[in-house]
Amino acid sequence: MGGAVTRRVSIFGATGSIGQNTIDLIARDSDAYDVVALTGASHIDRLAQDAKQLKADVAVTADPMRLEDLRAALSGSGVEAAAGHDAMIEAAQRPTDWVMSAIVGAAGLEPGICALEQGATLALANKESLVCAGALMLATAKQHNARLLPVDSEHSAVFQALVGEDIGSVERVILTASGGAFRDWPLEDLAQATLAQASSHPNWDMGQRITIDSASMFNKALELIETREYFEVSPKQIEVLVHPESMIHALVGFNDGALMAHVGPPDMRHAIGYALNWPARRALPVERLDLAAIGALTFRVPDEERWPALRLAREVMERGGLAGAVFNAAKETALDGFIDGHLGFTRMAEVVDEVLNTSDPSHIDAQMTLDNVQAADHMARQVAKNIIEQTAG
Ligand code: NAD
Ligand code: MG
Repeated sequence: MGGAVTRRVSIFGATGSIGQNTIDLIARDSDAYDVVALTGASHIDRLAQDAKQLKADVAVTADPMRLEDLRAALSGSGVEAAAGHDAMIEAAQRPTDWVMSAIVGAAGLEPGICALEQGATLALANKESLVCAGALMLATAKQHNARLLPVDSEHSAVFQALVGEDIGSVERVILTASGGAFRDWPLEDLAQATLAQASSHPNWDMGQRITIDSASMFNKALELIETREYFEVSPKQIEVLVHPESMIHALVGFNDGALMAHVGPPDMRHAIGYALNWPARRALPVERLDLAAIGALTFRVPDEERWPALRLAREVMERGGLAGAVFNAAKETALDGFIDGHLGFTRMAEVVDEVLNTSDPSHIDAQMTLDNVQAADHMARQVAKNIIEQTAG
């Protein structure tokens, strides 16, 4: 394209909800991008099809058993096929300018660190990596002159509200929460909530895990910690408001009493596109809100009895160290237990609480290195599994 500068981009977690939305934006303007790596864990056909369409250098599946399928799907295309953990890391170490980090769970941490070590701009949907190892991510970015841009809608909203502002003049950050599937359920019914009920979100179309985490508010719990890690604000300055319409994504309150709200449709392509085009704004194919048609926006204080995850997040922030890694791993394991039918909906928070209270403190107090974060993660998963097995047995 007539000497236009193409940007090298990679998408980790390309087959998921955020990955597909990212591909949607990139495919609309594909001459502007030189796609390096696409990764996924399943959906081999989708991965291969997107890699061919975007002319990626390499497509990687995290599942080593699927290498032959991926090879077959890519044969003759010129796109390299690779599989397994080491191949993911190798792909993440390839130089790029911009990377979408959209793997779900702590599995996104190591590839994200690799991208930062290349000096790339890391668009971070994978909130778990900040929850597990925020200080490590930020230090790695600083050391390699890389940049972290938030993609979580709330954090993108805060980031945008802070453009041109001094963080020292911020009094509070308010994250909004839709309230998820069980916002209006009678409390006594929650223990019986089924997987299908928890997997349906009133406003957002997202991956299954984050959808269930929205119903339990573990998603907002992770986001409280993500806010503390990303922005220089203390836990006391971060509030959560239930906002069922999901139109205001976050608000920033300043010391002069002003509140800057970010208003937009519940479409992740806004936050993804903002991170893709930053620091510029470019036209995006998202709905323009008709506020008169919406009529009213409502807010309420979250009920901590309904959503104990919010209290747990505050305890984790208080504890510091690697408590975030323990919290996230316990949450991921409890969520697996719920998805597999071994654990009731309300038991998830109880399991996470128990893991936090019974974990060997030496893991939480360890220095924040990738190895120690992974060790704390592994330990917490074991403790959580034991608790879940005892419950089931
Ligand atoms: P998803 O389940 O739709 O997709 C997850 C992606 O990660 C897929 O490509 C999957 O193949 C891959 N993956 C899963 N396990 C893996 C593993 N062990 N190793 C390597 N790859 C693996 O999830 P999603 O909804 O797109 O969410 C992705 C991330 O973005 C999460 O951290 C989520 O919290 C965050 N996020 C999502 C949304 C949303 O609207 N979906 C909004 C805000 C933040
Ligand atoms: Mg969010």
